[in-house]
Amino acid sequence: MSTDSRFDGPGPDDVWRDALRQERFLIQRCRNCERHRFPPALVCAACGGSDLVWVEASGRGVVYASTVVREREGSYNVALIDLAEGARLMSRVDGLAPEAVRIGMSVTARIETAPEPILLFHATDGGVL
Ligand SMILES: [Zn+2]
Repeated sequence: MSTDSRFDGPGPDDVWRDALRQERFLIQRCRNCERHRFPPALVCAACGGSDLVWVEASGRGVVYASTVVREREGSYNVALIDLAEGARLMSRVDGLAPEAVRIGMSVTARIETAPEPILLFHATDGGVL
């Protein structure tokens, strides 16, 4: 377990991963500037404030960018998702062909816990724009 010497207890990455294991998708909100942020950090990138609280994410988002990664075993997509809360994160849109992921597509978060907890997205309403 990684800890930061300035804080007692688990670091933000551990908190996030523990929540994911319990199938909860948490993001941080800055009490100073009220912005939501991701990835987990000790200070707010927008204002430098360190008063960050964990809140449950809505799980709703929109694809900001998507790229298809081709490997011998098959292809998959890597997507940047703009969450409804305003934070942007890198993930994968599952459940449809990697080429079918479109910018502006509405997506919903889904947590898979096996073999390792992972946050994925799938197209909301089957990906209809
Ligand atoms: Zn802030």
